[in-house]
Amino acid sequence: MSQSEAKNPPADVAVAYYDAIVIGAGMSGMYQLYRLRELGVSVRVFEAGGGIGGTWYWNRYPGARFDSESYSYGYSFSQELLQEWDWREHFSAQPETLRYLDFVADKFDLQKDIQFNSRVATAAYDEADNCWEIELEDGPRVRAQFLITALGPISAPTMPNIPGIDSFEGPSFHTAAWPHEPVDFSGKRVAVIGTGATAVQLIPEVAKSVGHLTIFQRSANYCTPLHNRPIDAATQREIKASYPEMFATCADSHGGFIHKADPRNALEVSKEEREAFYEKLYAEPGFGIWMGNFRDILIDQDANDTITEFVRKKIRERVKDPAVAEKLIPKNHGFGTRRVPMETRYYEVYNQDNVLLVDISETPIERITPAGMTVGGCEYPFDMIIYATGFDAVTGAFDRIDIRGVGGQTLKDKWVDGPTTYLGLQIEGFPNMLTLVGPHNAATFCNMPRCIEQNVDWVTDLMRYMKDNNLNRIVPSADAEDAWTEHVHEVASRLLFTKVDSWFMGINSNLSGKQKRRLLLYAGGAPAYRERCDEVAANGYEGFMLQ
Ligand code: NAP
Repeated sequence: MSQSEAKNPPADVAVAYYDAIVIGAGMSGMYQLYRLRELGVSVRVFEAGGGIGGTWYWNRYPGARFDSESYSYGYSFSQELLQEWDWREHFSAQPETLRYLDFVADKFDLQKDIQFNSRVATAAYDEADNCWEIELEDGPRVRAQFLITALGPISAPTMPNIPGIDSFEGPSFHTAAWPHEPVDFSGKRVAVIGTGATAVQLIPEVAKSVGHLTIFQRSANYCTPLHNRPIDAATQREIKASYPEMFATCADSHGGFIHKADPRNALEVSKEEREAFYEKLYAEPGFGIWMGNFRDILIDQDANDTITEFVRKKIRERVKDPAVAEKLIPKNHGFGTRRVPMETRYYEVYNQDNVLLVDISETPIERITPAGMTVGGCEYPFDMIIYATGFDAVTGAFDRIDIRGVGGQTLKDKWVDGPTTYLGLQIEGFPNMLTLVGPHNAATFCNMPRCIEQNVDWVTDLMRYMKDNNLNRIVPSADAEDAWTEHVHEVASRLLFTKVDSWFMGINSNLSGKQKRRLLLYAGGAPAYRERCDEVAANGYEGFMLQ
């Protein structure tokens, strides 16, 4: 990139011009802004929300908190920041996380380059000027040589396709558009639709004060205990002293977590040893039971069956009514093949007299009515409906922007049968567009900030390389994109999750065109991904065409 050229807009274009536009001011957009400033390029961030934080800005529902250990989730790029910030709980709740991100934004003075309440509607590549022009929903246009998407993989909420959905007369909320004011459940008849990771965090909080709670479950999930607790002063000191080792552990683990797979196979130990190991994992905090389990539980069906039966037994032990317990036990997939919701007294909620589980796997909700819902011919009256119905994952946020590359080709059309990318960071036909945490990028299957930092550092190094070598345009070759896409599919084919419907596989029953499995993730693990990205860079960005 030639900076003098980049800073001077083409004479006939009366729009603001930057070296780079970043879409999104969540954790990836914030860090990308920090790094680009360091590089000395001009950058503007456009954010749809009224503040920084992305997922932690929008998802304010009660119970929202990390499933990753707080200290492993924070940014690692600043020693000063690591020492200054005290996490209060092992798994930080959303309000504290947002305070942390505000603290980061203030410390590095990020807000001044972020334009809030600015949703990007279109982004088009201008071949003649080798730049991107974006248009905001309320009209203004802005140009930049580079377009960096920091959209987040779980940021495009979807409402269910239920007739009458707008007719309900009481308050109703999607969990990802939760009001900023507290919501009072006391004495109310509340419905929750959905039993994914979000609902599993929300339901125990609602159940604490609700008049009556009805949960509509289409698919059960295997949920395991989070075991959150406060961080005491001595632990705080230990955490701060051990950051380098902890981040090294994360860097070396498949998903960027502090949990690393056990090197043994599940069936090579005795039944007693296996059960004792599962008991230990179940009693420990966080994702250990998923990420730190025997190395083959997500690959080998027989191995998977052992942990699946173990978790089923736990559900049966915790839920008093055996008929309810059976409804809560998934029958169509094994443990860990969908995202494991982490829970805090979730199963005990179903022992409350004022809680009803309605299985809608075979009898879907027929209609939302002004006073509630109709299911299987029965009327359910409600004062409030909560939609914990999930997201159009990974590619959804891209689809919601009209993105056009060379020759006016739309990204939505290009990805109609599933995403194709090079390294999950660039797309053939879309020069100078870089996709942080994009599809087929290890960051979509990761303790996010660990992989975000890798993505951002790699993109920043690329831009430095282009600047130093007076290069202005980068796009992957079709061959490189094909090879990466094939590799992504090949790596995932060994894993059991590819045989199961979930957002990992691009399934969203509420959207036409998203009901066929389309792999969205890179499942080869963060270390292998990082190694490949580094290798590409070391070989002069092989697979990319630079000019
Ligand atoms: P989700 O896992 O996709 O769950 C959506 C739920 O709504 C599912 O139970 C789904 O049933 C149900 N649903 C959707 N449409 C429906 C309809 N028309 N009728 C009835 N039920 C319907 O979404 P999520 O729980 O929001 O979680 C999404 C992801 O966000 C998680 O997997 C995780 O990666 C992330 N997350 C992270 C955290 C954290 O880190 N702390 C917390 C929450 C979420 P089906 O399963 O049958 O489709």
